[in-house]
Amino acid sequence: MRAIINYLNSLLLWELVKGLGLTGRYLLDRKITIQYPEEKTPQSPRFRGLHALRRYPNGEERCIACKLCEAVCPAVAITIESEARADGTRRTTRYDIDLTKCIFCGFCEESCPVDSIVETRHYEYHGEARGDLLMTKEKLLKHGELHEERIAADRAREAPYR
Ligand code: SF4
Ligand code: SF4
Repeated sequence: MRAIINYLNSLLLWELVKGLGLTGRYLLDRKITIQYPEEKTPQSPRFRGLHALRRYPNGEERCIACKLCEAVCPAVAITIESEARADGTRRTTRYDIDLTKCIFCGFCEESCPVDSIVETRHYEYHGEARGDLLMTKEKLLKHGELHEERIAADRAREAPYR
């Protein structure tokens, strides 16, 4: 009996009619797709995009080379080398993030005691050559300088919840 019903349904194109009915049900509904890149979806201040290293307002690097971010990174994407300065403070001589390994979990920024390494809201980037997705210390600091205003504003908004 089941086989006969299935046969009749296939003759009457019942599955096609059901599919078109479903399409029709959503035809006049509010659109949930957007025209990217002209339109953008709203972003959380905690969005985890491309990383940046921050400086203090006087220009000094925030990073104190404690290597907590390197230790906590589950993807082993961070490589840090450091040395002591003449004044006894410690700073990195190398700070690399391999974006081909990074899973954008945010653990590095959560672990940083001085708010140095952060994930910005910037996500529109790509690489075309070997090494383009290796974020060196210079690139990270430069990116931090470009986005500092927004990073600081986002941190201020989050402060009550941290
Ligand atoms: S976001 Fe996660 S995976 Fe990426 S560098 Fe930070 S800790 Fe590592
Ligand atoms: S970025 Fe933060 S957690 Fe990582 S080494 Fe520098 S101070 Fe430590």
